[in-house]
Amino acid sequence: MGKKTASKLKRINLETVQDLLLYYPKEWKDLSKISLIKDVQPEAGSGDGRKEITIKAKIDIINSKRAWKRKMNIAEALVSDDSESIKIVWFNQPYVAKALQPGDEVYFSGKVIQDKFGLHLNNPTYEKANKKETTHTARIVPEYSLTKGVTHKQLRFLISQAIKYAGEIPEWLPEDIIKKYKLKDLPWAYENIHFPDSLDNLEEARKRLKFDELFIIQLYTQRLKQDLEKQKAPEIKFNKKQIKEFVKSLPFILTDDQKKSAWKILQDLQKSLPMNRLLEGDVGSGKTVVAALAMYNTALAGCQSVLMAPTEILAEQHLKTMQEVLPGVDISIITRSKKQKLEGSRIFVGTHALIQKDFEFENLGLAIIDEQHRFGVGQRKTLRDKSGDNKTVPHLLSMTATPIPRSLALTLYGDLDLSIIGTMPSDRKLIISRLVDEKNRKKAYQFIKDKVKEGRQVFVVCPLIEESDKLGVKSVTQEYEKLSQLVFKDLKVEMLHGKLKSAEKNEIMEKFKNNKINVLVSTSVIEVGVDIPNAAIMMIEGADRFGLAQLHQFRGRVGRSSHQSYCMLFTESNSAKTIERLNMFVDSNNGFELAEYDLQLRGPGDVYGTQQSGYLSTLKIATLADHELISQAKEAVEDILPQLDEYPLLNKKLAYFSQNLHLE
Ligand code: ADP
Ligand code: MG
Repeated sequence: MGKKTASKLKRINLETVQDLLLYYPKEWKDLSKISLIKDVQPEAGSGDGRKEITIKAKIDIINSKRAWKRKMNIAEALVSDDSESIKIVWFNQPYVAKALQPGDEVYFSGKVIQDKFGLHLNNPTYEKANKKETTHTARIVPEYSLTKGVTHKQLRFLISQAIKYAGEIPEWLPEDIIKKYKLKDLPWAYENIHFPDSLDNLEEARKRLKFDELFIIQLYTQRLKQDLEKQKAPEIKFNKKQIKEFVKSLPFILTDDQKKSAWKILQDLQKSLPMNRLLEGDVGSGKTVVAALAMYNTALAGCQSVLMAPTEILAEQHLKTMQEVLPGVDISIITRSKKQKLEGSRIFVGTHALIQKDFEFENLGLAIIDEQHRFGVGQRKTLRDKSGDNKTVPHLLSMTATPIPRSLALTLYGDLDLSIIGTMPSDRKLIISRLVDEKNRKKAYQFIKDKVKEGRQVFVVCPLIEESDKLGVKSVTQEYEKLSQLVFKDLKVEMLHGKLKSAEKNEIMEKFKNNKINVLVSTSVIEVGVDIPNAAIMMIEGADRFGLAQLHQFRGRVGRSSHQSYCMLFTESNSAKTIERLNMFVDSNNGFELAEYDLQLRGPGDVYGTQQSGYLSTLKIATLADHELISQAKEAVEDILPQLDEYPLLNKKLAYFSQNLHLE
């Protein structure tokens, strides 16, 4: 291909033949049925609602002309088969009239429309019928995610060429497994995922490729578990008396789920088998105090512990929370800009800076990672290796507000034990959520002004930092200008995004915390954990761009005090599906329910965001709804694990998989 096309394809990470093969379609259109022209009817409905039909016809006449003050090119043709003839109209495709000649036998796939041009086929895809096999029409046709300047025709052509080399990708799945689960071989699966000859074949191809993804993830996690079981962690005594006093000293009563989770963790810590537990709980459910309790117990037993957060803002916040619940206990904080290591302190809070080379622990007994998906597996390992004692590894607790359903977590995070805080502290008020129509935008702004007058603060979240070629998607910089100079020109408006220096970010968050800013325009950086009790309005632009679980996390930024809080969604999409999805969000306040609903509609990458979804981001075709395949893959992994050494190709594949996770 030409250099230009190559650089465009690079934007969607297509650089090699293998990349093309692995670029699975996002949809397939069944255009395999050939209709007779005499049977062709204009379909009811409009736009996307109309179905495409395919005809095979000979061109009688074709020509193109400029119309409407020469701004638009219209190509028209009259085509016929043995039954009848029909008109075809193409808008702004002047090359059609050059590509097709009278007398050509051609397949056309498109929508039939009855309007001022009469009954006609509108902008159909065409492909000459003299080839052995078609690529774009008269078959089940793949549809891909495209990038600007690359057409479906180009991409299908390239992939159809790549498929010739599918046989060169070695079969890495052991033959016994292929047989036992009646799977197709790899080259066949690649060919049929892109260009299936039937819907049955498509299903078989999907099954094979889904199985691969589910198998490799589970092989990876099961092997991690196996490795871990060979290691030893320090046995940390459960100091019942002092922990009871700690719980009594809290300004609130722990919820049942907090108690249960804490109890489980304290039990785990007593064993020499390293703990590897995931603590899940909705935003605001109170995970930090559970972490504090575990760290306090660890300190009482003479070991160090560390709580690592994805951002400095969160690390600072954790420090504050810990100091509140553990008065009189020395707590150190280590971030890039702040290194306060207190003499003799056993409790550490910090960011990535904690796992840098120059920082060492002594006798590290427990490592807690907040929002674990932000960390690569490699970094977790580094932390684990920093125990300061080469005979033991620390116990590990990951905490996340990302609602991963239990069934999913158990199968895909097979190496982790799971605790869920499923209920919120009882003093929380329900947040009022609304999908706001564009025509009510002014009213929404007025509402915000009124609330600011009452003393409240506001988040405005946008999908992008800067304006981009993604037309119409709101960016922080643009919104910031509009809001600060026009809409809220009497209010204090600031912006926050990932490109700012961390000192600047901290300064802005500090000002927001101290109510020196009324409206904070931000990207998803405020997503996790930030606690601003006075913030009562969350306004989200381009809401359709976020997964429901992610929206739910944004919503969790407000409603953290006794003030009634509000979440307002805006979208420029009119798609019925999108509106339904967003209304589901408006109607539900349960993160797990939302995640499960969204997982059925969209891939995990979309639901959790690719960076956050960890192993899940490796799922390109399998979904969490593939229950049967998940359990088959699990069974297959259990069968093969003891003899893993006998399968060199499988080991290679596994090494490749874990390497790529490390890069995460
Ligand atoms: P998250 O799970 O999102 O990390 P936090 O641990 O930050 O939530 O807790 C949110 C707030 O709720 C904190 O201010 C914390 O002190 C408070 N909190 C925690 N547990 C309870 C409880 N059982 N009752 C009342 N408030 C609680
Ligand atoms: Mg938290």
